[in-house]
Amino acid sequence: MSRLLITNAQIFQLSQNGDKVNILTHHEVLVNGNRIEAVQPTGSADPSHFETVIDADELLVMPGLINCHAHVPMVLWRGLAEDVSIDRWFNDLMWPLESNLQAEDVYWGMLLGLIEQIECGVTAVADHYFHMSYAAQAVEKIGARALLGYAMFGSQGLGAVKQTARFVQEYQGAANGRIRTIMAPHAPYTCDDAFLSASAKAAQRLGVGIHIHVSETPAQTIASYQKRGITPIEVLQRTGVLDVPTILAHVCGATPTDIGLLEKYPVGIAHAVKTYLKLGEKTAPVVEFAAAGIPVGLATDGVVSNSTLNLWETLRLMALTQKERMGQGEAMPIGQALAIATHGSARVYGQPDELGSVTPGYLADLILIDLNGTHHQPLYNIPASLVYNMQAPDVRTVIIDGQVVMHDRQLLTIDKAEVIAQVRSRMSRLSQLDPEKRIQRYGN
Ligand SMILES: [Zn+2]
Repeated sequence: MSRLLITNAQIFQLSQNGDKVNILTHHEVLVNGNRIEAVQPTGSADPSHFETVIDADELLVMPGLINCHAHVPMVLWRGLAEDVSIDRWFNDLMWPLESNLQAEDVYWGMLLGLIEQIECGVTAVADHYFHMSYAAQAVEKIGARALLGYAMFGSQGLGAVKQTARFVQEYQGAANGRIRTIMAPHAPYTCDDAFLSASAKAAQRLGVGIHIHVSETPAQTIASYQKRGITPIEVLQRTGVLDVPTILAHVCGATPTDIGLLEKYPVGIAHAVKTYLKLGEKTAPVVEFAAAGIPVGLATDGVVSNSTLNLWETLRLMALTQKERMGQGEAMPIGQALAIATHGSARVYGQPDELGSVTPGYLADLILIDLNGTHHQPLYNIPASLVYNMQAPDVRTVIIDGQVVMHDRQLLTIDKAEVIAQVRSRMSRLSQLDPEKRIQRYGN
């Protein structure tokens, strides 16, 4: 197994609830194969015993960020659904644009998005999309980590559950374990009870979780009351979805009763605040989720609603919007925000004992951050700078599963120019928008 030594580093350490941040200086990280073997003072190990030695020159080593809910290949339509409401975003733009999608587009779109993520220090993503065997090939090629769910709608019939279950089985543990899989029904408003129950049963049988959109807006909660007499969260409870480990995307329309209910189940919430802000929708009650002990992780959602896959933006906007909605500067303190970005995201992603911390035994998903930029000076408070001052290019080096995938901003596993050229060559076909193709699926 290959061995990697990162010397002369600062190491970011954080207690589970975020109340204690510790920055070790003059330390080194030993990586054996895909795991962290030791964190110790620089000089403890003999560099000649390692195949790769990175002199961090006091860069900060942090766990890679985890994107808990995305549709990475949607980078293909970046900028094509701006300044619209959520129903126009879906019905007039996104669903008609997606009807242009071909399987191979997913491979190139996924690669472009994964490059953007690596350049931002995002090392893992829970992705929810179509043609997922092509997404898996992209993950394998670039060396990323991903939790892949093949999106399905109730309108496809129960056969879709069987088909996507086959994807789950075939790709579970692929790419040397960097790929895990999950069942991915779209949402309670696009899947009826029988479809959701079948999804939950398949997940249980396969020993995997579920990744689903739910209560994206308060209006969806009201519509669910009108149609089914219960909230979307209660729909997931009665169909057995909450009994399996589930990633709930958004939950902005959660009622206090919903929050009391979610406490009792093995679920986590993926929070994509920039998408809510752009669509003019309410953000989620993250402070209340955290107080109830419900894990929360950072997410971007797709780029067509979020503009980027940069989780530092999500981190900053989450802290700011929670302060604003609580009317308290003390709300969502820096340590809590960082705990959501690390431990919380690892819990939602389903690998809390292997990801989200620079700790011996954990998987070696590490990012090296340069805090020498003017926007960090003078640097009294590293945790504050991480939440409020970070720019993506501050991330210099990225290691995933023990492999260096970006070193000093140079990508090592992929030809970025080729990926961009491939995506550009698809722009005219992918952007065709026929007004006849309007698909009224949202808001029913
Ligand atoms: Zn989404």
